[in-house]
Amino acid sequence: MFGSEIVGRSISKLWSQNLVFKNIMEIKSKEQIKKIKQMNKIFLDLDEGEYKIRILQNPHIIYEHKVDIDGKTKFIICPTEMSRLANEEELAPCPLCEQGNKPAIRYLTVALVRYDSDKFEVGILNKNSIIKKALDLNFDPDFGDVKEYDLKVKATGQKLQRRYEVNPMPKEKSLAINEEEQKVIDSFYSKNALEDFTKPKSYEVIQKIINGEDIPF
Ligand SMILES: [Zn+2]
Repeated sequence: MFGSEIVGRSISKLWSQNLVFKNIMEIKSKEQIKKIKQMNKIFLDLDEGEYKIRILQNPHIIYEHKVDIDGKTKFIICPTEMSRLANEEELAPCPLCEQGNKPAIRYLTVALVRYDSDKFEVGILNKNSIIKKALDLNFDPDFGDVKEYDLKVKATGQKLQRRYEVNPMPKEKSLAINEEEQKVIDSFYSKNALEDFTKPKSYEVIQKIINGEDIPF
């Protein structure tokens, strides 16, 4: 589960939505935070199996560091590479780059996943192999805008062995987004913006995170 570990982000979202106050009055443990995060899952966890995905937004690209903090793997967006991507004249400093940790590319987009006729979810998709394939199709004139047709996905293998086979559905066989799905999509966008997940934290904040300090929301 990669992106859900983008540090602090989803929790600060919860605070901003007052969800924490609606569901429980007081946070007494980290487990509680974990539970709320699961209740309000922003990132899509794709299971093994077959389903259809509709990409809803043009994919974004970020550079992120993989780092172990207190035995947990965290992913932290690299300020240096993000400022390089943005063509900024002065590159932002990054404590993890200074340590020799090399950031890797990650693609992000918002997607609708249809598991079967009545189960679907909307969230941020961060599986590089799926999005890379989506981008290939998008820029192939025979297929065109990937937001206009479904992708048939077959996921096999557990965890790190997970592989995704991705094939485009013909436009005429792709299902239009129905009213119920649109409601969930609108609700997702009313709380989240993909752009919020592409902004790096400052040098000082990253330093605190890697030192294991609790970051104020
Ligand atoms: Zn960096």
